[in-house]
Amino acid sequence: MEIKKFGVVGAGQMGNGIVQVAAQAGFAVVMHDIADKFVANGMAVIKKNLQRSVDKGRMEQSEMDAVLGRIETTTELSAMKDVDIVVEAATENEKIKLDIFAQLDEICQEGAILASNTSSISITKIAAATKRPGKMIGMHFMNPVPVMKLVEVIKGLATTDETYDTVVELAKKLGKIPCEANDFPGFIANRILLPMINEAVYCLFEGVGKPEDIDNVMKLGMNHPMGPLALADLIGLDTCLAIMNVLHDGLGDTKYRPCPLLKKYVDAGFYGRKSGRGFYDYSK
Ligand code: NAD
Repeated sequence: MEIKKFGVVGAGQMGNGIVQVAAQAGFAVVMHDIADKFVANGMAVIKKNLQRSVDKGRMEQSEMDAVLGRIETTTELSAMKDVDIVVEAATENEKIKLDIFAQLDEICQEGAILASNTSSISITKIAAATKRPGKMIGMHFMNPVPVMKLVEVIKGLATTDETYDTVVELAKKLGKIPCEANDFPGFIANRILLPMINEAVYCLFEGVGKPEDIDNVMKLGMNHPMGPLALADLIGLDTCLAIMNVLHDGLGDTKYRPCPLLKKYVDAGFYGRKSGRGFYDYSK
């Protein structure tokens, strides 16, 4: 099936990145969030990113205007009624996602694909909240979306080959490289990444090292472009904790227990870059 119009639910750091990439690839995009301030913040980030490209001579002003002209914003989910695919990028919370997809199933046209950018939650379970499980799929972009090449494409138990093939082609049209994963907690990316981040938090918790030293060991010793604690701050500590809880509950192994220090930071509202404070201070 041909995708012409794109919908994105959630205008946070992942949602606005997906909107930007889709609009730059020439798609008409509807960007939704629950309140005007979140939608406005999403648009402001997209404008800032595009303006940076214009200032550096990588994009014409006319192209920036055309990209922005393809984006429509809304706080009404009913605006998704005529899109060909919706990518949901709302908060990593199972209840929120089940509720969104039950509504989207009622709102979206019959042939529309329903995709989730979830980091860890079961695509099969989300699909069961809809009457179109064959059209439900995981489309997991990486952060920051305009920069990172990978899209992990996750098949739920009932996802059809047609849905999978359409999403793989779409990922390529967005300039991304799709990789296939099956539907198990955390899929491939976060099954591997998050236990490493959680272990780095344990190193801090147990006094094995200071944040800078933990990050420098992984950067200088393992050639990682970012240290695990700085990466956790970029992802969002609330999202990291939500993913560890899904791994712990879903795989039932104590090796996935979230570090108490990670829980404490989230309780304190230290979510990382997006709140100005995480393992590092971003307030300045
Ligand atoms: P975020 O906190 O930056 O943004 C989440 C947005 O969802 C917020 O703007 C919030 O208002 C909105 N939202 C909450 N409930 C909603 C609802 N019912 N309807 C519409 N919007 C709603 O979070 P994020 O980092 O953008 O993460 C979004 C999703 O992407 C999560 O599922 C996360 O696991 C996944 N993800 C995150 C990363 C990352 O590095 N942060 C990477 C890949 C995937």
